[in-house]
Amino acid sequence: MSHMKALKCRECGKEYPKEALHVCELCFGPLEVSYEYEAIKKALNRKEIEKRPPNMWRYKELLPLEGEPTVGFEVGYTPLIRARNLEKALGVKELYIKNDAVNFPTLSFKDRVVAVAVSRARELGFTTIACASTGNLANSVAANSAACGMSSYVFIPSDLEQTKIQGTTVYGSNVVAIRGTYDEVNRLCSEIAGKYGWAFVNINMRPYYAEGSKTFGYEIAEQLGWKLPKHIVVPMAGGSLITKIWKAFKEFHTLGLIDKVDTKVYGAQATGCCPIVTALKEGSELIRPVRPNTIAKSLAIGNPADGFYSAKVMKDSGGWGEDVSDDEIIDSMKLLAETEGVFAETAGGVTLGVARKLIEQKRIPRDESIVVSVTGNGLKTLEALNGKIRTPVVINAKLSEFDELVATNKGYAVKV
Ligand SMILES: *Cc1c(COP(=O)(O)O)cnc(C)c1O
Ligand SMILES: [Zn+2]
Repeated sequence: MSHMKALKCRECGKEYPKEALHVCELCFGPLEVSYEYEAIKKALNRKEIEKRPPNMWRYKELLPLEGEPTVGFEVGYTPLIRARNLEKALGVKELYIKNDAVNFPTLSFKDRVVAVAVSRARELGFTTIACASTGNLANSVAANSAACGMSSYVFIPSDLEQTKIQGTTVYGSNVVAIRGTYDEVNRLCSEIAGKYGWAFVNINMRPYYAEGSKTFGYEIAEQLGWKLPKHIVVPMAGGSLITKIWKAFKEFHTLGLIDKVDTKVYGAQATGCCPIVTALKEGSELIRPVRPNTIAKSLAIGNPADGFYSAKVMKDSGGWGEDVSDDEIIDSMKLLAETEGVFAETAGGVTLGVARKLIEQKRIPRDESIVVSVTGNGLKTLEALNGKIRTPVVINAKLSEFDELVATNKGYAVKV
């Protein structure tokens, strides 16, 4: 049974029917899904959730579907790793990695939002799924549409990583690469959505899509034994994920699933595209759009739709925001791989880099629990590491050549 009540304007509170709508016609505020929490409280408790299969649908009462999901059954419930080696490297006491680099099926947190948006689009009778994407959304829309027999149109900036492009076209999706930034792609897509009547997961389906991100937060709470970390660092592109993690924590508290919400939420961006962090640091309510220039292409949104609300989450929770350079991003990708064996994409380098900065600044104390959100897989952004990591030593298949290598310690140290 569905507990979804209506769509509701975040600004003026006007309610709308549960259709493919995303903007308030009175005040242009964004629409958000509202729920019948009293009914959910009766249906959901810790024991009930724990009995269910390990995927994001274990929290289905809190997701905006009328019936059962029809795609993405295996998405979510990714590992929350206690990062002991990284704790030592950073000199902190309790650090976790929430690892959506291994989300199913396309190795990023976007599989969560797409599973919800596509299932909802099908309930509303759409036959074509579409999106404007910085890469990971493209992969997930293409894969999930293929898996449920829908056709898909994916719009991307033409300078995206090759891996993210091929990781979309392989599913047979119609991919259109636009000469321009993500923000220009997005603007075009708003026009296409109106004209062609497709379900754009992050435009006309955005209120439903965004709710999928809450499961990232629910899982952290459950995996920590029904409590929250003191600090969580979250990467920001459009700023949706960070606001929905906060909503997830609040909802769990409303439902009595956790005792209190005393988590400080920190937003992470790349210096080459940090409009939200800049506004936060300047104490400005206004997010000034920028033209992105960073290797963290998945986060390269210069005009973030949820910028205002994500800044508010950081302020309301007592957290903060920071940004890191491309060199710092690569350094943190390597640190995570070398200490924990987790290969995150550039966005993961942004998050860990910012976490390190905030620890150095003493904004995050060393003796309290910290979660670092890894949202995408390093195999998808290999080109960012060209020339930045070790290359193999090449020899002929002769023992003498290997002996020579060991004796001279050429290339890199060979342990014997
Ligand atoms: C899209 C994306 C994000 C952030 O998403 P928003 O909800 O738009 O802030 C973070 N990490 C990765 C890897 C992404 O692809
Ligand atoms: Zn309104």
